[in-house]
Amino acid sequence: MNRRQLLQAAAGAPVLASVPAALCAAASPAAFQRVRPADPLWPSAASWAQLERAVGGRLTRLSAPMEPCRAAPAAQPCTEFFAALKNPYFLGDNVALTQTLGWVDAWTSMPSAYAVSAQTTADVVAAVNFAREQRLRLVVKGGGHSFQGTSNAADSLLIWTRAMNAITLHDAFVPAGCERQATPARAVSVGAGALWAHVYDAVTTKAGGYVQGGGCMTVGVAGLVQSGGFGSFSKAYGLACASLLEAEVVTADGTVRIANACTNPELFWGLKGGGGGSLGVVTRLTLRVHELPENFGAVNMTIKAGSDAAYRRLIGLIVAFYARSLMNPHWGEQIRFRPNNVLRISMVFQGLTRGEARAVWQPFLDALDSAPQDFELEFSPLKFVSTSAREFWSPTLMKRTFGFIRRDDRPGAAPGNVFWPGDQGQAGQVLHGYQSAWLPAALLHDGQREAFVGALFAASRHWGVSLHVNKGLAGAPADAIAAARDTAINPNALDAFALAICGSEGPPAYPGVAGREPDPTTARAHARAIGRAMDELRMLAPNPGSYVSESNYFEPDWQRSFWGSNYARLLAVKQRFDPEGLFFVHHGVGSERWSDDGFSLRT
Ligand SMILES: Cc1cc2nc3c(=O)[nH]c(=O)nc-3n(C[C@H](O)[C@H](O)[C@H](O)COP(=O)(O)OP(=O)(O)OC[C@H]3O[C@@H](n4cnc5c(N)ncnc54)[C@H](O)[C@@H]3O)c2cc1C
Repeated sequence: MNRRQLLQAAAGAPVLASVPAALCAAASPAAFQRVRPADPLWPSAASWAQLERAVGGRLTRLSAPMEPCRAAPAAQPCTEFFAALKNPYFLGDNVALTQTLGWVDAWTSMPSAYAVSAQTTADVVAAVNFAREQRLRLVVKGGGHSFQGTSNAADSLLIWTRAMNAITLHDAFVPAGCERQATPARAVSVGAGALWAHVYDAVTTKAGGYVQGGGCMTVGVAGLVQSGGFGSFSKAYGLACASLLEAEVVTADGTVRIANACTNPELFWGLKGGGGGSLGVVTRLTLRVHELPENFGAVNMTIKAGSDAAYRRLIGLIVAFYARSLMNPHWGEQIRFRPNNVLRISMVFQGLTRGEARAVWQPFLDALDSAPQDFELEFSPLKFVSTSAREFWSPTLMKRTFGFIRRDDRPGAAPGNVFWPGDQGQAGQVLHGYQSAWLPAALLHDGQREAFVGALFAASRHWGVSLHVNKGLAGAPADAIAAARDTAINPNALDAFALAICGSEGPPAYPGVAGREPDPTTARAHARAIGRAMDELRMLAPNPGSYVSESNYFEPDWQRSFWGSNYARLLAVKQRFDPEGLFFVHHGVGSERWSDDGFSLRT
């Protein structure tokens, strides 16, 4: 879009009172440019001071936390710093860091030039207006878990919502403007910067309810909900965004809007799965609270096949068993196919006792037992575990002792700062490659299952593949699927039984820190192998679609992949509420109009 089209779009948009002065000042017919610190139009010290006053002093000039390590990589402070990067709460509490430190050949985590550590909606309004008027590249960060690097950008102004983390429960919430048509619902209002661990603590542990959030406890609420959002029990409760009842949003014109089914319904729809950081800054979300089941539990086992032929048979057994017995609201999480002929099962269940869960698995275990020469099952007394649902996310002594749950190890850390050990590997990671694909449930039908088993085996020769069965809604209750249909997510997710994910990452690393730099040769080899593995699956499921938040940075045809037939409607929401593209993220809605770094409008 050129400047003329841009202005026409702005003029035609009823939500914008006026075209910003700074945009008009860009009188050149050349493409619109955002400013960087070295540019003459970069805001003056007096302008920054004005913003600082407007946000109650909560404006910070940032520098890269890695800089001291570049100067003294072997010194004790640097060693300690890199050790701390494995603590997701340390990362989340640092305005200049992100959970993923980069992705080889894609992006490297960079601090913004300045950050507003927002505490109120008024802080957000001030920052949005400042960024728009001064033509700044604007970034929004909550939990900082973006794999795509969309919550950091050099030379930008960051709105950091981490401190907006109030959590309030309601017995009978009615969205504003819906008084005549909505039944009051149990709900929770959450500040945009809250993390799921803290929401689960408030809603489940303390109040005995269930809120649909993410599997990883340190993910931010606003980022996950805008992605769509899958948790361990999504096969029962659906998408996190489908439980959204209302959001408060600051749009590009600096207006505070309420979005729900009755007020600003198109904006509301776009926030449900349209991807974070594209439509405005969400300041508060209100989510439905569901009935909590009695029990949650887990099943963990590892099976080693004695030969390639036995592994192929093992894949056939688990796929048939999944289709027959597990594709229902009780079961979620992962089945992993490793290249060394190892099958790893890490499943969770809800609404079943431990005994009932074991009974479900007995036929599969019997099949393994009948061929001991082929299958070696790693037994463990903790293969089937269950707990009262209310205790699932609480850091009980038992869970800490057995290593089921980990705590933020910083002195004085809040006791509610907990996370699953399995997610620690991703703290501070540098990605090598990552791809995902929604696998249609039709692949499990008799006519296609054998070919699918063959494709999984073939894929596993290149790289490990995980089937996240809670991240596809086939097998979910009809109301959960219907609610998901009323969101912006790619409709392929509704017919998929799983999201297949292939990924590779290295330990915390940073360019220019001697001895701790990313390894591009290894990374590129892994990325190629991941591509080959996923190609085996895509041969059977062409154009499968991919989950915006857990996907390839280099996703070709990302509009169709992330949003499918919903993209045109989503783009219309974007044009209505952010016609000038103040909110830009890599492969976000409307980002095709911008340069890769989001600084220049493409002509
Ligand atoms: C270890 C790990 C585990 C994960 N597990 C799951 C999982 O179980 N299920 C699942 O569905 N996803 C999962 N994800 C993906 C995750 O949900 C998304 O990356 C999500 O967008 C992260 O939100 P965030 O607030 O933590 O991240 P951020 O990086 O802060 O934000 C992500 C995006 O949302 C935008 N954003 C953040 N806050 C706001 C706001 N208030 N208003 C507007 N835009 C905003 C940012 O600009 C950015 O574009 C996981 C990611 C990681 C790294």
